[in-house]
Amino acid sequence: MTAERALVWFRRDLRCDDHAALSRALDAARHVWCVFVFDTTILEPLLRRKLERRPSEAPTDRRIDFIMAALAELDRALRKHGGELIVIHGDPLEEIPRLAEALDVDLVCANRDYEPAAIARDDAVGRRLESAGRSFAAFRDHVIFEHHEILNKQGKPYTVFTPYKRAWLARLAPTDVAPCAVEPRDGQLCAPPEGLRGNWPSVVDLGFAPSDLPTLKLPTGMRGAARLFDDFMSRIDRYDQQRDFPAVKGPSYLSAHLRFGTISIRTLVRAAHALTLQPHGAGASTWLSELVWRDFFFMVLATNPSVAEGASFKPEYDALRWETGPAADAQFEAWCEGRTGYPLVDAAMRQLVQTGYMHNRLRMVTASFLAKDLGIDWRLGEAHFAEWLNDFDLAANNGGWQWAASTGCDAQPWFRIFNPVTQSKQYDPEGRFIKRYVPELAAVPPKWIHAPWLAAPEELAEVGFIPGRDYPLPIVDHAKARASTLKRYQEAVGRDAADDD
Ligand code: FAD
Repeated sequence: MTAERALVWFRRDLRCDDHAALSRALDAARHVWCVFVFDTTILEPLLRRKLERRPSEAPTDRRIDFIMAALAELDRALRKHGGELIVIHGDPLEEIPRLAEALDVDLVCANRDYEPAAIARDDAVGRRLESAGRSFAAFRDHVIFEHHEILNKQGKPYTVFTPYKRAWLARLAPTDVAPCAVEPRDGQLCAPPEGLRGNWPSVVDLGFAPSDLPTLKLPTGMRGAARLFDDFMSRIDRYDQQRDFPAVKGPSYLSAHLRFGTISIRTLVRAAHALTLQPHGAGASTWLSELVWRDFFFMVLATNPSVAEGASFKPEYDALRWETGPAADAQFEAWCEGRTGYPLVDAAMRQLVQTGYMHNRLRMVTASFLAKDLGIDWRLGEAHFAEWLNDFDLAANNGGWQWAASTGCDAQPWFRIFNPVTQSKQYDPEGRFIKRYVPELAAVPPKWIHAPWLAAPEELAEVGFIPGRDYPLPIVDHAKARASTLKRYQEAVGRDAADDD
């Protein structure tokens, strides 16, 4: 691949180190420009949905502010080498070919995306560029291995995680995690000519109001990612013991950074893999498994794109008959707003809306609660998470929801149903996490915080708390819900078993 002039199109890879497309463009071309497009085909439907749901509120989205901060840092970094980031608001199908023509580049480079809509977009952009005599090249960057690189003995994609992970680890070589060096020669990175510079759109220009992101504890950009990563490295050896307890600083909190590519997956895997070979490597080894799950779900999406349209990975589960109607709608609202009467579920749902993050254990508990306690279609929950998660990623979100609803690839068996009270006692024994997000329960002692409705009235009267007055009674009885769920799944998939978790 050689070119005189190249354009690097940044999308979910907002960094300028260890970056496959930028590295390859610098290898190939004498002059390189960089662009990011705020894609109207993504933002306009998002904006419409927000306005429909909350017509009286100015729409905000923390991810837009997160991207803005990352772009500003990326631009500063490119400028140190004489470059500059061009930022456009429009439809990439029009904007990328137009910019390529204006800059007269012969090559456009990007990192490969695995979501069906993004694949269709890239194909269309590629065709337009090619019809104008330019090339489009896409590179592996977001994952360590793409879907066609880890196959079973029959040459097919794995449908079970453990053998996939075994094959993934067996294949991992130093070259797979070697950084894609970004070393521009003097004058190689170029600023756009005056006429193409334009003004960067602001959050308001995109139709949104500034969000509360600056008030949250999520540091942004490459520097924010590096800070979180350094902090996590100092406690990675305890990850396996601490990762399930939401009140403890156990996980890395890097998910939004992985989503927007402010840190490279190769950097993380390289560090984790090296530590697995050392004494006390159990924490690193468990964390590495999570990074492999990430690749696994990208593989599932790439090989089963219909899941993005709402299809169950296991088609027979599309026969499930979910609860609908006004009572189910009201329960769904209560779930979204953290008013189910199950303290751990409510704390988690409020954490999601208040911060855009939810702990992994709680994603499993709340997703299971929606599908298996309320009997509500997991796709509604998937969409709610997609709206609020800072780290929303179609592959992982769909994979996680289908896991919890038992419809997915290597999912939780359908007869295993999380008990929200048992989960609460096990993973937030003192109720510290619950109290953080459900302050109504601040005075309730740990003995009753997981299920306050079970306390005798005099026990909580002492602390001035009355279940039902100060905090909702449970909107569903877990034991009854469990029986209905087993019936629902039995009817759809016709097998017999039961297991309460
Ligand atoms: P850590 O525990 O530090 O993990 C490190 C990284 O590994 C994560 O940042 C993530 O990139 C990856 N990872 C961890 N667990 C998983 C997993 N189960 N599947 C895929 N990748 C994983 N993750 C997302 O990134 N985006 C989503 O939209 C998303 N939606 C989910 C929905 C449900 C219902 C469930 C059960 C899980 C979902 N996950 C999602 C996976 C997981 O919950 C988050 O990745 C994790 O909580 C992010 O926090 P962390 O970065 O502190 O995680």
